[in-house]
Amino acid sequence: MTSTIGGRTKLAGVIGWPLAHTLSPAMHNAAYQAMGLDWVYLPLPVPDQRGLLAVLDAVRVLPFVGFNVTMPYKAAVMSLCDEVAMLAQMAGAVNTVQVVDGRLIGYNTDARGLLESLEHDAGFSAEGKRVVLLGAGGAAAAALVAFVLAKAGEVTVVNRTVDRAEELVERMGPHLRGVSARACGTDDAEEYVRSADLVVNATSVGMSPDDPSPIPTQWLRAGQTVEDMIYRPADTALLRGASAAGARGIGGLGMLVCQGATAIDIWNENSQSPAPRDVMRDAATRALGQSPLPEESDS
Ligand code: NAP
Repeated sequence: MTSTIGGRTKLAGVIGWPLAHTLSPAMHNAAYQAMGLDWVYLPLPVPDQRGLLAVLDAVRVLPFVGFNVTMPYKAAVMSLCDEVAMLAQMAGAVNTVQVVDGRLIGYNTDARGLLESLEHDAGFSAEGKRVVLLGAGGAAAAALVAFVLAKAGEVTVVNRTVDRAEELVERMGPHLRGVSARACGTDDAEEYVRSADLVVNATSVGMSPDDPSPIPTQWLRAGQTVEDMIYRPADTALLRGASAAGARGIGGLGMLVCQGATAIDIWNENSQSPAPRDVMRDAATRALGQSPLPEESDS
């Protein structure tokens, strides 16, 4: 946070419910301080749709540079923006809004956040690779957009409810640009998981410390990269299984940091200095240590 909040301080924040354990204020305010920005980032807990409309009206007239959006409002906010960027339209969700002259411009930074964290945390480039994506909700949609951007070779969307996986692949059909995508149910996924270069967990299975892995971990093998988008707890059954199989496992904190940093880069559009990912990661790691409860997430 800027050392002195004054009459010229600009505002940013996160809209969601519940937000008691959000890591975003710690991570963003540390970045603003390191960047010398006279900005402050606030939790904006919104309990219902009526509250959401009131907060969006307020945000248009207050000195907000922008705000993040988390569960359960990523789809609702998209429909309330004045303009929505192509990646967010493809993902069907907005997690970052820039406020320009009272207008709301929606973005989705989860896709770029995922690619950046894979590159940074695992040295992994998805270009031409075989990817298994577990889940068919909002995070999985953003991940599928990411793998289209990265020109993956093939993506298999695996979901408990196979109809949702099929719907996601069908919806993304016009945007696939040569990336081969298929849908399948979890029970039929073994051969795809065994032959994958990358397995990404975009389900919520693992958020509770007692959760099992979303797939049998004996399907994993050495040489694979496994990203679990979940970052609380840091050590999920999937990541433990990946480690036991000799695969490279990474947790979701890197993605959280990179999607937040990309949001700052959008809001601070005239600056040549990217948001300091290392400062944000340190702040998020400290905040996670102080708030280790698994009940909610930022994304
Ligand atoms: P969502 O839209 O609610 O989707 C949840 C997904 O999990 C669905 O595919 C659902 O399958 C599956 N699922 C839930 N319970 C299950 C169970 N018991 N067995 C098998 N599958 C189950 O949630 P979301 O917004 O996509 O978020 C998913 C996860 O990604 C959350 O843990 C979230 O915190 C994380 N995330 C992390 C970041 C980051 O920056 N690290 C960013 C975004 C999201 P069905 O369709 O069958 O119900």
